Amino acid sequence: MSKRSGLERYRAIITDWDEFIAACVRPLPLTIRINTLRASPHEVHSRLMSKGFSLTPISWADNLFHADTASVSKTIEHWLGLFYIQEAVQTLPVRALDPQPGETILDMAAAPGGKCTHIASCMHNHGPLVANEPVGKRQPSLMANINRLGVLNATVTAYRGESFPMHARFDRILLDAPCSAEGTLRKESSLRDGATGSAIARLSRLQRRLILRAYDLLKPEGTLVYSTCTFAPEENEGTVSYLLSERDALLEQVKLPLTAAAGITTWNGEEYAPEISRCVRIYPHHVDSGGGFIARLRKPAR
Ligand code: SAM
Repeated sequence: MSKRSGLERYRAIITDWDEFIAACVRPLPLTIRINTLRASPHEVHSRLMSKGFSLTPISWADNLFHADTASVSKTIEHWLGLFYIQEAVQTLPVRALDPQPGETILDMAAAPGGKCTHIASCMHNHGPLVANEPVGKRQPSLMANINRLGVLNATVTAYRGESFPMHARFDRILLDAPCSAEGTLRKESSLRDGATGSAIARLSRLQRRLILRAYDLLKPEGTLVYSTCTFAPEENEGTVSYLLSERDALLEQVKLPLTAAAGITTWNGEEYAPEISRCVRIYPHHVDSGGGFIARLRKPAR
């Protein structure tokens, strides 16, 4: 698997294939997530509508709207951090994580900070939040977004996630892993050819190291959400399966307020544990957004 393998290799696992392909070539709608640390959805909606923007609520989330034009990013409301421009699908891993005020939370791969700032808003800025990003050129955007959105409870660190120090333990961890990003194909058309096999293999080796360290950093009864924005089973179900084979992790059902497909249990002759079907695969036609994968794991009590 060294050349581009193409989306065609997913035909057998995506049952509504024609709808999937049609959605992949449609333009991606622009979505904004209201930053409730700074303003209410009602306030932002009124301010932007009074400036002539048209915002349409997204039925399954009270803080998400489709916006009619990208110039919404040039408003004072955007500069003041009243909202964050984010694909709707990218809000779902934080929903699955369900962060609570006062908890100790790690975002292991945090830049540019869409999910980290969302986590802080769920925490009402209360409780330690570690935003980790090892890639130097991606740290300024993370820090800028933390500042712009008024996040007050985050500390930024720069460890490679797989060697994140074992000095502290966390109630919840988000591992939004570096991945082949096939699910972003509506904004990056080159990805419609699928990722290369060598990229998928390299990333899946890194993801295995990351998920083991993330799991080891949990407190007993802590929750880990593993997410990607790719369709590749090697990076999704394959990574979660690896964790299940190495640790005593419990896989929980991911519950979302929209249609999604279950995690697959066989791929290319490989059998995954039956409970892998508790993970979810989100395709562009499910949410009129990008695609992705989410698993929710729990560490048993001691
Ligand atoms: N969670 C982010 C958000 O919502 O804005 C997006 C994260 S992006 C999918 C994955 C991130 O992992 C990238 O910023 C990348 O630089 C970072 N990364 C790459 N190698 C890493 C490693 N070894 N440990 C931790 N993060 C890494």
